[in-house]
Amino acid sequence: MALLSLKSLQVSASEKEIIRGISLDVGEGEVHVIMGQNGSGKSTLLSALAGNPKYSVKGSALFEGKDLLALKPHERARRGLFLAFQSPIEVPGISLASMLRRAYAARFGDEMSAAEFDKILQAKSEAMGLARSFFSRGINDGMSGGERKMSEILQLSVLEPRLAMLDEPDSGLDVDALERVGAAIGKIRKNGMSMLIVTHYARVLRSIKADRVHVMHMGKIVASGDEKLAQKIEEKGYSWVLQ
Ligand code: ADP
Ligand code: MG
Repeated sequence: MALLSLKSLQVSASEKEIIRGISLDVGEGEVHVIMGQNGSGKSTLLSALAGNPKYSVKGSALFEGKDLLALKPHERARRGLFLAFQSPIEVPGISLASMLRRAYAARFGDEMSAAEFDKILQAKSEAMGLARSFFSRGINDGMSGGERKMSEILQLSVLEPRLAMLDEPDSGLDVDALERVGAAIGKIRKNGMSMLIVTHYARVLRSIKADRVHVMHMGKIVASGDEKLAQKIEEKGYSWVLQ
């Protein structure tokens, strides 16, 4: 049984159909990459799966064989579905540590004191080479693009989702930050976590091996293949796939 199984999924917002029938199976431990021109519906697909209420969804989406669409967003998270945003927002008043402690309690049903949880955070962030100040700061408060992405990856490593959906983890990063973020995702991935990654660049596949690469166009998957497909798109663009 696939971990995530989509059949004829349709997503619309304000009367507009954005995802127009997507079927996709992501197996246990698999990494699937989604590429596609701007506006093809990649972010909408991930948001709708995470349960963003602004979208109305038809068709079927099973997660571990259960109807995902019947679940509220927090229940999806508790079952191990995680979405890292394309542009993580700032929440200056709340520290990453306190937000993550609550998310951890919701995910694993394990309420810890701040001091206890601090030890977990400490270990995880040390493994990623992050300074302590990183999680005592407000969420993404004044953080650079690269730091925001690292913050999302720290969340991944603490919450250990079954399926991590990463929306352009490589967007807006300089070459060194790309390397760090890619390596950090690759490390987490070694635990067998399944991933659905939206990216424009084959580069990220240097640190993360993809089982399948899909191309989206106008709300549909128009091509699927292996990593060679991603390489070819990076070299030649999308026009040859769309013909
Ligand atoms: P991508 O991530 O592939 O660049 P998006 O999923 O962000 O594309 O957007 C796909 C299309 O859906 C765009 O035309 C966008 O304007 C539209 N769209 C996304 N969200 C909404 C919404 N809430 N209301 C209306 N249109 C939306
Ligand atoms: Mg997007």
